[in-house]
Amino acid sequence: MALRPPLRIAASPPPLPAVAAVFCSTSSVMPPAPLSTAVPAPAGSLESLPVAAGMGESGAGQVGSRPDNLDEVYSLCRELGLRLSRQRRMVLDLLWAEKSHLSARDIFEKLNNLGRNIGHTSVYQNLEALQSAGVIECLDRASGRLYGYRADPHSHLTCLDTGAIQDLDVVLPPDLLERIERETGFRISAYTLHLCGRRA
Ligand SMILES: [Zn+2]
Repeated sequence: MALRPPLRIAASPPPLPAVAAVFCSTSSVMPPAPLSTAVPAPAGSLESLPVAAGMGESGAGQVGSRPDNLDEVYSLCRELGLRLSRQRRMVLDLLWAEKSHLSARDIFEKLNNLGRNIGHTSVYQNLEALQSAGVIECLDRASGRLYGYRADPHSHLTCLDTGAIQDLDVVLPPDLLERIERETGFRISAYTLHLCGRRA
């Protein structure tokens, strides 16, 4: 019987657009990524790319499905025992209004430009508290940390010209995931793809 070719997820060196994948497994040695609230399992459509990157029953997700709006985020914060100070609401409001990936300085400047009086330290401390509670996401980049409004597992597309990062919901074909599980002995519970490229 022919042996299966080795499993290849990330091409290297990457052609454009490059793809790297990060998988989270319940039996992984690494602790689960902080950005995980459970997401309903995708409907199983293979043709259409976008649906959801989460795999349902995520081991890290104890707080139910992803909030749809700010009120649900506030409720989530209360459930988690996070105090909703005026400054914390400002930070959350801005992240949800912008729906992009911003540095603490970006957030500080945008809030102050909007006339919301908040100090840089307060912005930073609130971002850290929210991300460590799993309410927002935090991306570590060479240029520093970026924060986003979504904390559920999702994928990112980075523009190589501008550095702008878009959220993407990508569903990998179930047969690929099953193959990864077979060949690694892991049960995959969530995944994140990092794609980069230039506008065509
Ligand atoms: Zn994101």
